[in-house]
Amino acid sequence: MTDPALSESLTDARERLAAALRTASRPDDDARLLAVSKTKPAAMIREAWQLGQREFGENYVQEALDKQAELADLSDIVWHFIGPLQSNKSRTVAEHFAWIHSVDRERLARRLDAQRPASLPPLNVCLQVNISDETSKSGVTLAELPALADAVHALPNLRLRGLMAIPAPGVDPREQRRPFARLREALESLRTRHPEAPLDTLSMGMSDDMEAAVMEGATLVRLGTAIFGARQRP
Ligand SMILES: *Cc1c(COP(=O)(O)O)cnc(C)c1O
Repeated sequence: MTDPALSESLTDARERLAAALRTASRPDDDARLLAVSKTKPAAMIREAWQLGQREFGENYVQEALDKQAELADLSDIVWHFIGPLQSNKSRTVAEHFAWIHSVDRERLARRLDAQRPASLPPLNVCLQVNISDETSKSGVTLAELPALADAVHALPNLRLRGLMAIPAPGVDPREQRRPFARLREALESLRTRHPEAPLDTLSMGMSDDMEAAVMEGATLVRLGTAIFGARQRP
């Protein structure tokens, strides 16, 4: 049984994305929704799956493992790890996810590469860039990005797919676009540096700023609240 509220909010989110792509004069399949399901029960993920959503983002390792076990029958679900990751928990992500968006240091990348099971395809990696908040601890700086990209690109069990950022919240839409533009430019430079890497992903835009992100070329928008409703603390 599908919850009418979830069905409506997912439809609204799809329409928002479609409208943003039209406004940006981009093809309608140029960006997709990542449903951020942290703190939400497995039953809600199953409902979203029944409504056609396939890609889900989780932030907490143990919570994600529990939900993955409950949803093991959904064989085509694609799990993305999007939260900060302590190195001592890297194995779980290497073994249980298709994507990670939060690689911000070489040591973590090396562990993920070493721990990725040979039976699985390479782990898709976005490097998290600290684009607007110099005081934040998460994310590599733009200055350090080329060296980290070189290191990740050389690791055989990782696929360097693109960049992720969580800019400081901006109120005015023009102001919101600025950090997203910087992330797009950073991806363009990496493409020139590594023309053979599959650098096709700009993971940017959340419930409050997805339109600005799509204007600047987001290919994966990470929506939590807009799809699943407000979160309680876990
Ligand atoms: C929680 C989270 C989101 C979703 O945020 P909403 O504002 O609820 O859409 C997106 N990206 C990351 C990295 C998150 O941690």
